[in-house]
Amino acid sequence: MPATYTHKFETPVYSGVVTINTGLFIGNKWIDPAEGKTIEVTNPATGKAITAVSIGTSQDVDVAVKAAEEAYKTSWGLHCSGRERGRLLYKLAELMERDIDALTALEALNSGKVFGVTKYWDLDIAISTIRYYAGWADKIQGKTIETTDSKFIYSRHEPYGVVGQIVPWNFPLLLLTWKIGPALAAGNTVILKPSEITPLSALKMAELVTEAGFPPGVVNIINGYGDEVGQALSEHPRIRKIAFTGSTVVGRKILKASAETNLKDVTLELGGKSPSVVFDDADLEKAVRWTSQGIFANMGQVCTAGSRIFVQEGIYDAFLEKFVQVAQGLTENTGDPFAEGTLHGPQISQTQFNRVMSYIESGKSQGAKVLLGGERHGNEGYFIKPTIITDVHSDMKLVRDEIFGPVCTLIKFNTEEEVIEQANDTEYGLACHIFTENITRAIRISSAIEAGTAWVNCAQVPDTAAPFGGYKQSGMGREGGEYALATYTQVKGVHINLGA
Ligand code: NAD
Repeated sequence: MPATYTHKFETPVYSGVVTINTGLFIGNKWIDPAEGKTIEVTNPATGKAITAVSIGTSQDVDVAVKAAEEAYKTSWGLHCSGRERGRLLYKLAELMERDIDALTALEALNSGKVFGVTKYWDLDIAISTIRYYAGWADKIQGKTIETTDSKFIYSRHEPYGVVGQIVPWNFPLLLLTWKIGPALAAGNTVILKPSEITPLSALKMAELVTEAGFPPGVVNIINGYGDEVGQALSEHPRIRKIAFTGSTVVGRKILKASAETNLKDVTLELGGKSPSVVFDDADLEKAVRWTSQGIFANMGQVCTAGSRIFVQEGIYDAFLEKFVQVAQGLTENTGDPFAEGTLHGPQISQTQFNRVMSYIESGKSQGAKVLLGGERHGNEGYFIKPTIITDVHSDMKLVRDEIFGPVCTLIKFNTEEEVIEQANDTEYGLACHIFTENITRAIRISSAIEAGTAWVNCAQVPDTAAPFGGYKQSGMGREGGEYALATYTQVKGVHINLGA
């Protein structure tokens, strides 16, 4: 019988008691993993253990696939109307709203995210995502296709069946909703693997799935390591589609696993090295505020982080002065994610802390100048001060690689042509942030930069209704909006002979 874990929050911003099951969630039941293994989950703000939760293996994935297949064939897929799927998703969104504080608190505890920011950003997007796809569930339609008089053709958008979904640790709950929302609306059953580092909010969501009334097996959640549970999902012959968010290195492994097994459909949302481009004619205050959010939001642990900031010559000095002030303000409000007024929390783990610091050191050793930050904050946990680096050149490791921390490089540019070339000088293509008051220029640059999302005069503001995904090595397929539904359905053409 799997254990539960109760956490008593007594913090300045939230007090309450939250209990979660720590087992594997399969067929609306909590079960022990076949091999009985657990993993310790850590609070990044202190570096101390919170609790241990179960982790599965490929045997548990087999059990979940059976449960998900059974559900698909009997109570979901073609056996449940879109209207009913929508009703259940609406109910789930309502329950998330009811439990918003508990979900936020678990997320902040397990990932070091700032409570206030997480509640009004991550949770707000997560809830509206489930609601948005609830609305789509009964509106997934094919077409009638005109051909000859003796033939009637129509198309149907049908689900894949059992879908595997793998998410990272930087937005554990938000990305869970980006995955399950469209998949369930389209009629698939899902087996989701959270990051082994941040499973707590997913375990709470599993309870809400049961309470909302989803039939057993429609949603299954198996915590576990990537090279065990993740790999088992990617290789499983009866999983028909896999949706992955994470690093480009692992994305490649997933594509390979699919190619070598059953050619399951694959969607990949991968890493980035996004440019922020500030032109002389930008609104300075706005550009500073948004570029700061673009790199420092979620402690820089955002796939679309604007980590390369290009500033045009005429505005460079004024921008730099104000940008340093804003980053300094964040530094002064770095600390406990549950304290009032905190704006900047820790990195997720010791490993990530070391990785980010090693990029800063590599930059320094190649002659880059650390203008602000570049060091640990406090004595415990994994805090790194917001870091601004100048005097860089395009072949430095810290300019080329995704750092996934609160570290940006500032680069001065002169002409549009020059900045387009530099912005595109990367194998990534997830997003770009453009700052100009000239609409014609905004449109021109948005088209010229090779990226799946262009944010103009703003940064890091995904919208549930908009497409989201990568160009080049930042991914394949799109999440968000109607585009996500297309990746969770396959199209069938039905030909009816009306003639002889
Ligand atoms: P990661 O690739 O190490 O892990 C992501 C998930 O994949 C985890 O659940 C992990 O357990 C699993 N995994 C690891 N090895 C696996 C394998 N061999 N087979 C199957 N699954 C495996 O990434 P991370 O460190 O958790 O997250 C950071 C990365 O995620 C960054 O590169 C970031 O850019 C990317 N990311 C992308 C988006 C996007 O939408 N494009 C969003 C958030 C994060």
